[in-house]
Amino acid sequence: MIEQLQQLRKTVREQLGKLNKLDEVNALRVNALGRKGEITRLLRGLKDLEAEERIHAGKAANLIKEELEQNFEQQITNIKKRLLEEKIKAETIDVTLPGFPPPKGSKHPLSQISEEICDIFMGFGFKVAEGPEIELDYYNFEALNFPADHPTRDMQDSFYIDEKHLLRTHTSPVQVRVMEKMAPELPVKIIVPGRVYRKDDDATHSPMFHQIEGLLIDSHITFANLKGVLMMFAYQIFNKNVKVRYRPSFFPFTEPSAEMDISCVNCEGKGCRVCSDTGWLEILGAGMVHPQVLKAGGYDPEKVTGFAFGMGIERIAMLKYGINDLRLFFDNDRRFLQQF
Ligand SMILES: [Zn+2]
Repeated sequence: MIEQLQQLRKTVREQLGKLNKLDEVNALRVNALGRKGEITRLLRGLKDLEAEERIHAGKAANLIKEELEQNFEQQITNIKKRLLEEKIKAETIDVTLPGFPPPKGSKHPLSQISEEICDIFMGFGFKVAEGPEIELDYYNFEALNFPADHPTRDMQDSFYIDEKHLLRTHTSPVQVRVMEKMAPELPVKIIVPGRVYRKDDDATHSPMFHQIEGLLIDSHITFANLKGVLMMFAYQIFNKNVKVRYRPSFFPFTEPSAEMDISCVNCEGKGCRVCSDTGWLEILGAGMVHPQVLKAGGYDPEKVTGFAFGMGIERIAMLKYGINDLRLFFDNDRRFLQQF
């Protein structure tokens, strides 16, 4: 019987050594040590043995059972350890692999247009100037010949911070700020891009938008200079020999004042949806600098003259790219922005 037990021990240990799956190990364990297993079956023969031999075989059987139990436990521990190691290995991140690159940004279409406009005027000898967006009422209105209670202030109803400060409604305050610094030096030849704010909000107006403003002051500047410079600008920005026309208009800070239209870039003047069938597109306001504004800037209106103009950057971008809703510029939708 002891020999049979030894043989069983040997066979079980050999089989166990070859197993690497938990369910196989458990199956073998039940088969060898379970209540209906091999050892139990062998021990049934104990009753047929002599007393002394029975005690001997019983002890040996218990030792072998104990030893095999330990072998099974050890094998289970080994397999679990190996599975854990494999799992860790599979989940390990190789930090030396190249990562996913963040999507590349590009210049906003409004920045592109603003830079393009500045470039054209820099080609004419203008210098870029900038000013604060929180502006004094004085520079935003008073110095530009909008006295307090003047009705034209209503056209530019703005966001006041206190009685004296507001978010600028146009880039024109920079005209006076630059003149004050430069007077009596000539010429004053600046182009002023920037953000401005008004209480408007619809498909063609936003409470925040961008303007670009130009100012040229020198001796003997006439409306002919204004027309020449702005016509050259229109040709260059739209890359076309557009026709240009001026309509009389009113601004407090220029006299005379005009709106400049160009022949529709979409239909070449034949009439279409973009130009409301007129064949013309309004693109900017301009005029000869008002004597009061020259005085506020420290120049003598008897000795110098000048012209100024201003346009909405969004308006130019919408015409150039055929965009029909201004708000698209400010939604930050990448599907829109990626097209530029
Ligand atoms: Zn048209």
